[in-house]
This record gives sequence, C-alpha cells and structure tokens, in this order.
Amino acid sequence: MRRAISVLLILMPLLVFCQGSYPEDTFRSPLDIPLILAGTFGELRSNHFHSGIDIKTQQRQGLPIYAIGEGTVTRIKISHWGYGKAIYIAHPNGYTSVYAHLQKFSPEIESYIKKVQYDKKSFEIEVFPDYGELKVAKDAIIAYSGNTGGSSGPHLHFEIRSSLSEKPTNPLLYGLEVRDATNPTFQGLYAYPLSENAVVNKSNQKIQIPFSRQKDGSYLAESVNAIGTIGFGVAAYDRQDLAANQNGLFALEQKVNGKVYTEIDFENFSFSETRYINTLIDYEHFAKYKRRIQRCFKVPRNELSIYNTIYNEGKIAVREGLSYTVEIQIKDLSGNISTLLIPVEGKQESIVNKKNSTKTPSYIIASKPNNFDLGFAKVYFPSDTFYEDFYIDLKNGQDTVTIHNNRIPAHKNFTISFDTSKIPEEEIRQAFIARLDNKRRPNYVKTYKRSGTFTTRTRNLGMYTIAKDTIAPIVRPKNFKSKQWLTNYRYLSIYIADDLSGINTYKATLNGEWLLMEYEPKTKTLTYNFDDKILDKKQCELEVVVTDNVGNSTTFTSSFYRN
Ligand SMILES: [Zn+2]
Repeated sequence: MRRAISVLLILMPLLVFCQGSYPEDTFRSPLDIPLILAGTFGELRSNHFHSGIDIKTQQRQGLPIYAIGEGTVTRIKISHWGYGKAIYIAHPNGYTSVYAHLQKFSPEIESYIKKVQYDKKSFEIEVFPDYGELKVAKDAIIAYSGNTGGSSGPHLHFEIRSSLSEKPTNPLLYGLEVRDATNPTFQGLYAYPLSENAVVNKSNQKIQIPFSRQKDGSYLAESVNAIGTIGFGVAAYDRQDLAANQNGLFALEQKVNGKVYTEIDFENFSFSETRYINTLIDYEHFAKYKRRIQRCFKVPRNELSIYNTIYNEGKIAVREGLSYTVEIQIKDLSGNISTLLIPVEGKQESIVNKKNSTKTPSYIIASKPNNFDLGFAKVYFPSDTFYEDFYIDLKNGQDTVTIHNNRIPAHKNFTISFDTSKIPEEEIRQAFIARLDNKRRPNYVKTYKRSGTFTTRTRNLGMYTIAKDTIAPIVRPKNFKSKQWLTNYRYLSIYIADDLSGINTYKATLNGEWLLMEYEPKTKTLTYNFDDKILDKKQCELEVVVTDNVGNSTTFTSSFYRN
C-alpha cells in the first residue's frame, strides 16, 4: 500500500503537466545551441497553422542537425518551395521527427539522395526509403541547417508528428528547453455584434475596445455597453526570453462570469483541418490590416479540433440591466499567463456606427455550386467553396475580370475559364492567365489550354486577365567565364531569371550527360557541386536549357577546363 502511494506521488506532477501522454525524456534537441524560437507550434500563418517550431540558427547555415532519437529515415523530400530539403525519421515510440529547410544532408544520406537524383534526373525528388534501410542512431548528425524552400532566413523548421495519424504535435511537449518567463501580450481587443439585434458601444459592426495594462501586469478593458448576442476577438502574441520574435500563443481561454465558454490549445491538430484557420481569424480584418484577430467564438463551418471547451459557440447573450465579466486568458507552454478583464453592461443604446452592407446582383449560397457568366470568362464555384453566404461582386472590364476581392477566403479551388477564340493563333502559345496584384502586376497562374479556352483553378479571389510572355529566360554564368580553367573551383553557379510567366524547367548537361544543378529560386541561382561527379575529361562542355511557363526557352552553352 505504501509503495503504491509513493508511486502515485511520483507520477502526479507528470500527469499534471502533460496534457496528452508525450514522452518527455526520450528525445534530445535537434541542435546543440540554446533553443531560441522564431516561430511556435500552432502559430497563425497564411492559410495554415504552423505545424512545428522554427529554431533560430544564429543567422548562419551549416549547423549540425542531430537525430533526436534512434530511428529510421522514412521520407526525404527536396523541393524548390515549402520545406526545401527535408528529412523524416520514424522513432520506435510512435513519433516521427521532421527537419526542414536544410542546407544538405549527412554524407551517407547525401550520397543516397544524389544517386536518386541522378537516376531520376531531377533535383526535386521525394523518396520513401524502406523501413530500416537508412537507420540513424540518437545523436547522429543527419543534416546541416539551411534556408532552402519557403524560408526567409536561416532556421530549422522542426516537427514531431504521430507516425500513425501524421498529426503534428507541439514539439515543446517533449521536454525541449526554451527559456521563457515572459508573459504573452495582448495587442488588440475587438467586440462583434453577432445577432440581428446586437449592438456593442452603439455599433452594429465589429468595434475595437480600448484596454490598458494594470500595475499587476493584467489588462483591463474599458467597460462595454451591449445588447443581444456578442462575441470577442483578440490580437495577441507570445515572446520567449532570448529574442524579440512575436510568436504564437499556446492556449486561449474565455470565461463569462467565471464559466468557461471557450478553451483552445495547440497541443496538436491535423493537416486536413489547417486551412480552417480562416474561420478562426477575422479574415477580412487580416486582408485589410495584416493583423490576425483570433475570434473567441465559433462561426458556422469552422471544423477545427482545437477547442477543448466551447459553450454556446463562445457567444455571449447580453440582457438589458445585467452585468457580465468576460475574462480572456492567453497562455504559453511554460505556464506564463496574461489576463484581460472586460466589464460588460447590458444596455440598449441607439446605433451610431452602422454596418453598411453592399448588395450586388449575385448572391453566393455557400452550400450550393454557383456558376457565373462574365462574357469572355466564366467562373464556377463548387459547393462549399466559401464559409458563408455573401453578395459577390463580379465585374468584367475591357480585358480583365474582377471576381470580388481578396477579403473573402475560399476553402476550395474554384475554376475560371477564359474564352480565347479571339486571340490570334500565333499568340496563343505565349498567352497565359494572370492574376493581377494590388499594383496590377500580372502573376502567372497555372493555365490549362484547350482549343478556344484557357482554364485555371485557384483559391484566390481578385482580378484576372490574359497576359503574354514573349521574352525567353535569362541565363548567365555567375562565377566563371567561357574557356576558363576551373581546377580549383568547388562550385559552378549560374543566374537564371524570367520576367513574366516564370521559370518552369531547367536542364543542365555536361559533355552530354545529365548534370545535377540545385535551383534556389530566392537567389535565382543554379549550382553544380564539383564533388558530385568525377569528370573524366579535361575539356568540359556545359549546356543549360531554361524554359518559362509558356515554353519560351533559352539555351546557354559554355566550355571550361579542369584537371
Ligand atoms: Zn516553420
């Protein structure tokens, strides 16, 4: 009996601190520098929640990356975008660790990958080694940190997923140490009148509520007068001790008169739900002001699993003459909490700040498919493209179509088809569908061409047109000249760029044989590493063919010598 009690006493703190059952002492850190984060798990990003942590690498590349535990490599992917060079390791305890934006892999893995690249004649590859084919020990160096793919500065993107469900989990639940005694920060508070009759501070549209920081560190909002069903939203961030980066929260809780209405945390989520982030945030506000408001109430079609508690959809029914205390708490994983108190008085007031609703001839019913004919373009929205019903603003100009604006998020792809029967035959090849940005600059969108029609599938509302790209890509050497001796060179690097439709393919050969060149779109550079291949000839003939998205192509040739 005594023994049972002492076992319980030992287990108790563990049970309190780990929400799920995450092994806290199995894994080591993927780096051997202090962990400073440029991004946290669940952080609000464009159309997704961040599925890992971003670990700063001291503005450098090439830091050794360690396997966090013993395991086997199950996947290696190299792509120009997204994760760049990434490796996945499955561990015996049921979790898979993911390391992304890498500069290169360890020599053993690098030679495995180079073979695949030469076999497939492609820099971009994805391989799934057999279980046990590429084993790694805990502490083994598997790669070096970099800045590849969709990374805007050197860092390691690190994930821990459940191997079975592939759900990403919060890597900080596994005992990784990040110094953090800093409380999260509230940046903005917003009140939303939600029912037909609802009014907040004389407004029947969203309104910002001022607040101030108290001496004890808590936040107090100015008293709110309201009637009807209302909701709140906050803009907030979390910071750790050793950097100024504004990272995402771990959890958010909303209480009304002491009762928990909303409880969200970022312990895990699934990739299939991540785009529903656009129902959590106030998307229109984000599109306008680039600030993400996290709503404490749930809107229809929000299918997120991040709610531990959701009472009355997080909405507050305010009655005349009654007082309410709304308390919003934001938390990080180290237990630092900030609290915002909002006194609410049930009071009927006349509306001064009135919602202006614009009606157009076209109404979208989100649950149904919607078709629109705009003359030389047609738009087809499948059912459930949108989260809500709305009046869509459709215009056709001289040579553009405007499909509403970017303030409404689309969950699914919709189709835009242009009638191209009036475009002269000889111009068809160089023509493509372009999305015009705010400054009316054309951006290539993937264009499917059939006789008389161009089609694209997109999730971006906005202005579209048919543009033409008549100029072939630029290809020029960066670090060498033709007929040069390059015996002591480690790399060949070549600049490639395209003005309008963008680069689609590149192919390099050396003395007629396919050559692996790594493409880095951020620096517009193709790089060949002389270590890859033993050159059997002194004189080398290099040919690089670069093609843009409409098929304009440039062939660059050069010869060089090497001992
Ligand atoms: Zn990341």
